[in-house]
Amino acid sequence: MTAGNGLYIHVPFCHAKCEYCDFYSITLLDQIEDFVQALLIELELRAPEGNGRQFDTIFMGGGTPSLLSPEQMGRIWKTLHQHYDISPAGEFSMESNPGTLDAEKLVAFRSLGFNRISMGVQSFNPAELKFLGRIHSVEDVLENFENARRAGFSNINVDLMTAFPGISEDSFQYSLETALSLGTEHLSCYTLIFEPGTILYKRMQKGEVHPLKEEEEARYYEIAARVLSAHGYEQYEISNFARPGYICRHNLIYWQHRPYLGFGPSAHSFLDGERSGNKRSLMAYVKELRKRELPRDFSEKLSEKDLVFEHIFLRLRLKEGLNLGEFREQFGEDFRVVYADVLDRLRNDQLIEENDQFIRLSSRGWLLADAVAAYF
Ligand code: SF4
Repeated sequence: MTAGNGLYIHVPFCHAKCEYCDFYSITLLDQIEDFVQALLIELELRAPEGNGRQFDTIFMGGGTPSLLSPEQMGRIWKTLHQHYDISPAGEFSMESNPGTLDAEKLVAFRSLGFNRISMGVQSFNPAELKFLGRIHSVEDVLENFENARRAGFSNINVDLMTAFPGISEDSFQYSLETALSLGTEHLSCYTLIFEPGTILYKRMQKGEVHPLKEEEEARYYEIAARVLSAHGYEQYEISNFARPGYICRHNLIYWQHRPYLGFGPSAHSFLDGERSGNKRSLMAYVKELRKRELPRDFSEKLSEKDLVFEHIFLRLRLKEGLNLGEFREQFGEDFRVVYADVLDRLRNDQLIEENDQFIRLSSRGWLLADAVAAYF
């Protein structure tokens, strides 16, 4: 039995589509029940993929999983536990939109067994929430944070968005400080990306909005790192900060390249060096599962070269960095020898720090992490 595996469920529904969002989500909420029924079949059909593995994390993401009723969530929870070996000491997270929560729902989700809730707050400034197209208000966040605590959630994440048009350093600092005043255990700070295909991207092409410059984006990460470290949060990954003991175990599974099974439309899985993904269409997903066929979109065995590249890229995003001994054990090569030229260039550009066991990004390297990937 191997441990250290994760389960991900993609719930593809939202009340409204945020202009910047590239995730697969739709607003046809009357199809939620069809989705739940199809998901239960998928969980059952794919149970053999979980044989011999214990799952330490469940992560309900999306979309907006908190749109499901406790009864629907209960059926999913039961089916998961019927077909997969789930560690009783696991981390069971749910993403939520604060505008879709209430005290009763939070109590119901907590009593099912969820022990971590992530709130898509994005900002504590009403004008910024409006710009981002969010359906929730600052009051929704404050009220439901309190409701979550009363329901027994002792591990709460707040997502904040940085570096979007119109944000100011003062307002970002205000959002950080408000999140801190709530006592959140974990904070994720993501830069707004202008993803092709999104409404915001089209607005950028028309010249209506303009992305911030790279140096400005970096400045927001510097503020987050300074403010949060002063309050005892560890920046364990470029965009993620946690109080001691609250690192997100599910995210670590992705960054440490460990196996996970993903369910729901557009969800990806990674198992035995193979990556696969489901179709990015609820209609196709439901149709195929009604015939008891898997809604697979693609599956590819990663080459050794891909695995090495992903290992490097993912490990360098983590504060602990790339473990040289582990790299040698996994790939049979000496990282310093194979990448001697690359390391010279990264050293010259002051993008890395090194010791006998690890290679890590320097503070400058963290701010330019995407550019570092291009060195390999
Ligand atoms: S709530 Fe989240 S998943 Fe839904 S559209 Fe907005 S950003 Fe995307």
